[in-house]
Amino acid sequence: MSYTAKDPEKRPLLALVDQADPPDVATYERGGGFRGLRRVLSGLSPAEVIDEVTKSKLRGRGGAGFSTGMKWSFVPKESQKERKKYIVANGDEMEPGTFKDRLLVEGNPLQLVEGMIISAYAIQASHGVIFLRGEYHLGLERLKIAVEQAKAAGFLGENILGSGFDFELIVHPSGGRYICGEETALLTALEGRRANPRTKPPFPQVSGLWGAPTVVNNIETFSNIPHIMANGIDWYLGLSACGDGGTKLYGVSGRAKRPGVYELPLGTRMGILLEECAGGMQDGYRLRAFLPGGASTAFLGAEHADIVLDYPTPEKAGSRLGTGLAILLDDRASPIGMIRNLEHFFAQESCGWCTPCRDGLPWVEKLLIDIEEGRGGPDDILRLQDACRLIGPMGRTFCAHAPGAIAPLESGLRLFREDFERAVQGGGAVVPSAQERAA
Ligand code: NAD
Repeated sequence: MSYTAKDPEKRPLLALVDQADPPDVATYERGGGFRGLRRVLSGLSPAEVIDEVTKSKLRGRGGAGFSTGMKWSFVPKESQKERKKYIVANGDEMEPGTFKDRLLVEGNPLQLVEGMIISAYAIQASHGVIFLRGEYHLGLERLKIAVEQAKAAGFLGENILGSGFDFELIVHPSGGRYICGEETALLTALEGRRANPRTKPPFPQVSGLWGAPTVVNNIETFSNIPHIMANGIDWYLGLSACGDGGTKLYGVSGRAKRPGVYELPLGTRMGILLEECAGGMQDGYRLRAFLPGGASTAFLGAEHADIVLDYPTPEKAGSRLGTGLAILLDDRASPIGMIRNLEHFFAQESCGWCTPCRDGLPWVEKLLIDIEEGRGGPDDILRLQDACRLIGPMGRTFCAHAPGAIAPLESGLRLFREDFERAVQGGGAVVPSAQERAA
């Protein structure tokens, strides 16, 4: 499911992924693995590592795009002997349409392990957890093997490479709910409690797992770290096509000819992703709109089909880059049906902690079902708009689940207004006929 640039130098994250089995330690080292860790442990201070990561302009790849170096810089500076600290890889990849981290853990788990060891050294954490989506059985198996191999080769455990730095790493499968991927709910789950989110601030960097300073980063984010430390800031900045550093795992699902994951320069245009990598739309289908980066981003219409996929540009157009894996809406699918499907997911996955989310999202789903099935009236469109106003803004709920759920609805009500109007005038959501599409 991956199609990438031919030159492995230009696609460091997936360079060793296109093989039947993930690389073992020897193969990984032959491909340049553990060079970054060796450089770090042979003389860089934790502050120097944080400084290099900050200057590399790596932004969090989980969806929010927060500066990784800045996040690490908020962690209290004591050494690992003076204060307990943790590092956690968020691999609970449950965003609909997003399947990039799966490729990384199945294809090159040692890259993630190395990234976590370097990151742990930078913030002086002594223990790390890879929190993995419950359904990623193959990834879990391969990660456990990678952790064992890294330990046997002296890259984990006590006094790593004779540096005096100790680090233990475990793999923990998620209980299987979307909310477990929200960083504070994830930490609560790791503490053995029901996965409810916590208010931020305090951010986990200050008070995380069992109250100790904790850095939570996405799997793709950690997987970038070995390459930055091995090849340097300028090389990393040079990979990108925009002001931030690195490549990005972009992707496409929907009616494209070659849906999948592609490693491309950060800031690649949507047109290159869709047309050149994914082969364009399937015959007989036209692009009508797309969610640029997973289900909790806002729809952009086909007029944005060549938008730059960096962090600021989709935001200026009214959406977000999110996870960078686009979900396509074609001209033969019902946008109301697609939105209803997404809201069903979000309603089902609400943890129930906050009233607007717990009660509001099932109500939104019910209104959409009524409209889709021809039982809705014009007032129902107004009710959906009210729901967007009441549930959508950040700050009404503990976490970003409800605002994320409202993003495709609110944008969909604007973009597909005619579909909604037609549906409530009678007949429900109808897929346009071939004649209508041609008109
Ligand atoms: P967020 O913006 O609240 O935080 C992003 C990260 O930056 C967090 O680690 C947070 O601790 C840190 N941060 C933010 N502001 C900070 C500050 N002032 N000081 C210190 N640290 C700060 O976003 P979030 O709620 O963690 O994540 C939402 C995103 O997750 C959405 O954009 C969505 O695209 C994405 N998402 C991804 C998946 C997936 O499967 N990969 C699933 C659901 C949602």
